[in-house]
Amino acid sequence: MTSLILIGPPGAGKGTQAKLIAAKFGIPHISTGEIFRANVKQGTELGQEAQRYMSRGEYVPDSVTNAMVRDRLAQPDTDPGFLLDGYPRTLPQVDELDAILADQGKRLDAVVEITADAAEVTARLLDRAAKEGRADDTEEVITRRLQVYAAETEPIVAVYSARGLVRKVDGLGSIEDVNARIVAVLGG
Ligand code: AMP
Repeated sequence: MTSLILIGPPGAGKGTQAKLIAAKFGIPHISTGEIFRANVKQGTELGQEAQRYMSRGEYVPDSVTNAMVRDRLAQPDTDPGFLLDGYPRTLPQVDELDAILADQGKRLDAVVEITADAAEVTARLLDRAAKEGRADDTEEVITRRLQVYAAETEPIVAVYSARGLVRKVDGLGSIEDVNARIVAVLGG
């Protein structure tokens, strides 16, 4: 069983690495950002609610996000393990995830933290904006997303560190190099 969280600032390459790691371990890749974007595209009520926050670089309220993750982790494909990408992102989400996993008889094996400095991630996000046209990849929104990450999400690394779960990985370098580092820290 492999149950993982991938954490890191926007633009650190989290989504790309998450897909590779999930495929390698044969576990579902659960990206809260992707679920929100799919809902925005389909015009669901959840999508309309999420869009109000995402377009400004703010976090979607925990009440919305937590319920969505609880439902997703109740699906049987997560029984052999799962990779959470972009969740938890706040201290209350850490508590909620603890509760969800306890309720479902699951546990976490590791938290992979991908590190990258602000200048590097801003450059990467602007490059992605040019290629993919993601609505929240404008310079102003990127700056806000990095601030929110530092204020809300960085503190959760300390919580998982205290539990001995964090494996830090340098996010600078090619996709292959970073992937090899992650596989190495996971003992794969
Ligand atoms: P991501 O694709 O992970 O960069 O997420 C894109 C956006 O979705 C974020 O900037 C937030 O607005 C929203 N989002 C994704 N995951 C969460 C979460 N765990 N809590 C709150 N908002 C989230």
